[in-house]
Amino acid sequence: MTAMKINGKLIAQAVREEIQREIETQAIKETPGLAVILVGEDPASTIYVRNKRKMCDAVGIYSEQYTLPEDSSESEVLHLVEDLNQNTKIHGILVQLPLPKQIDSRRILDAVSPEKDVDGFHYLNVGKLVANRPGFVSCTPLGIIELLERSKIEIKGAHAVVVGRSDIVGKPAALLLLHRHATVTLCHSKTRDLAAVCREADILVAAIGRPQFITEKMVKPGATVIDVGINRLPDGHLSGDVDYDPVSQVAGAITPVPGGVGPMTIAMLLSNTLQSAKWAEARAKPSGKRGHTKE
Ligand code: NDP
Repeated sequence: MTAMKINGKLIAQAVREEIQREIETQAIKETPGLAVILVGEDPASTIYVRNKRKMCDAVGIYSEQYTLPEDSSESEVLHLVEDLNQNTKIHGILVQLPLPKQIDSRRILDAVSPEKDVDGFHYLNVGKLVANRPGFVSCTPLGIIELLERSKIEIKGAHAVVVGRSDIVGKPAALLLLHRHATVTLCHSKTRDLAAVCREADILVAAIGRPQFITEKMVKPGATVIDVGINRLPDGHLSGDVDYDPVSQVAGAITPVPGGVGPMTIAMLLSNTLQSAKWAEARAKPSGKRGHTKE
């Protein structure tokens, strides 16, 4: 049996259309705005930033791009972030990573207002995710959940195995699955007998960064396999972390690379930006509560 292919391109398009509809029907008064900061001219980052802006335009999100020279200092980037934190037209600030070596990425990400942190990297938003409280969540893990839910894959009660424990993919993906009542195992490079652990998975998420690492021997028949990996092969082709063809003969459902998780990441960035504009509007509304008067 060949696995059902989970089409991330189509699902991402559906998410974008919903966002566009909400903006066009003026569900919120202000146009959501996203600012993207790019330091240097890394070719991959330049392409990512261009795509993000193109998608913003397509759904009606206002966007601004700030391109700073490669040799910019940390304080120059911090000043820009602080200006954008105050800019009322901007609801989301995205700092394109990686930043040049002279800049401490953590300091920059922590300087972004948690209320505009549409990438979900600020420690306050990470804390909210741990506590399962409303806040911004990193876009790729959010995209994984959206793919599963829209493909009607049952998360509740499933055993989800996540391979990879990075702060931007593995850990938040594990927490999101846990909050949706999966039983979660989080694996990494020191996990013993990884293949046996993976074979226990009803939902297997591969976020490793090693081409074709997950083989058919590591997959339980009928399992759902989500491939987050994006690896450039020596011949220039892209490969996921999953050995797609043989695994798709065993799995019940599988995401391809490209065309699986990748398109969802930008769609969820747009979704977080819209959410940020909604929260900003809600904060601006008078609460109706009466203030105290001091006598
Ligand atoms: P990181 O390099 O930050 O993390 C990789 C994780 O994989 C680590 O936790 C590491 O373990 C684990 N790992 C490495 N080797 C092994 C092994 N042999 N066995 C078990 N675990 C192992 O990567 P990211 O999380 O940032 O990205 C993972 C992949 O996802 C990459 O290919 C990246 O390009 C892709 N990606 C795709 C996105 C998308 O939009 N589709 C977005 C972000 C990333 P340990 O912690 O022990 O070192």
